[in-house]
Amino acid sequence: MGLLTIDLGMGDQLDILKINRDLINTLRKADKITDENIVMNETCRYWFGDDSIEWRGQLSVNLSRMATLINILPIKIQYTHIHNRLSTRNACVLMRPTDYIDYTQDLPPLGFLTATHAQLSVVPLSPISLDSGWSTLQLLPHCEYLDSKFKTIAHELTHILLGTYDLTYGIMPCLNLGMRNPYTAKNNADNWAYFISELYFL
Ligand SMILES: [Zn+2]
Repeated sequence: MGLLTIDLGMGDQLDILKINRDLINTLRKADKITDENIVMNETCRYWFGDDSIEWRGQLSVNLSRMATLINILPIKIQYTHIHNRLSTRNACVLMRPTDYIDYTQDLPPLGFLTATHAQLSVVPLSPISLDSGWSTLQLLPHCEYLDSKFKTIAHELTHILLGTYDLTYGIMPCLNLGMRNPYTAKNNADNWAYFISELYFL
């Protein structure tokens, strides 16, 4: 299965194919998160305020599981309807469907809210809708500019597959959240998406 494009233009179809492959490859690096590695530990600390072996174990489990779920579930990607477009938004996903299956329910309990408060993920899964900001983004993360189409899809997938929330957005607000409030950072989609974007380089 994986990321299925629905009525997207040719350029976006190719971008999604590339993101699907690179994202799986990146998430498959999750088993390295538990190795003792200074850069990996720093990256965990920056985005989640926690580099303990317990948290790195939980991160590793969640990201490996995300890779598996992307492979086996049909995850649709479409454009936001023209009447609902927001110039400030890159993409979105329906967060609280009434009928859901909780893909997080057999995860170990975390300092990460959704492992115990399962409420997301649907059958059929909520599609990811690409919005106006999407076309302005570069495809892949760059070491000096982590925002990308890759990061946008990673962000939306953490909502669907891990049950994250949107508490704050952007590099500096997310770094501050990691520093001040690790518990909240562990539930914030953008903190996960930036972490995954850095994992792309590691
Ligand atoms: Zn979001």
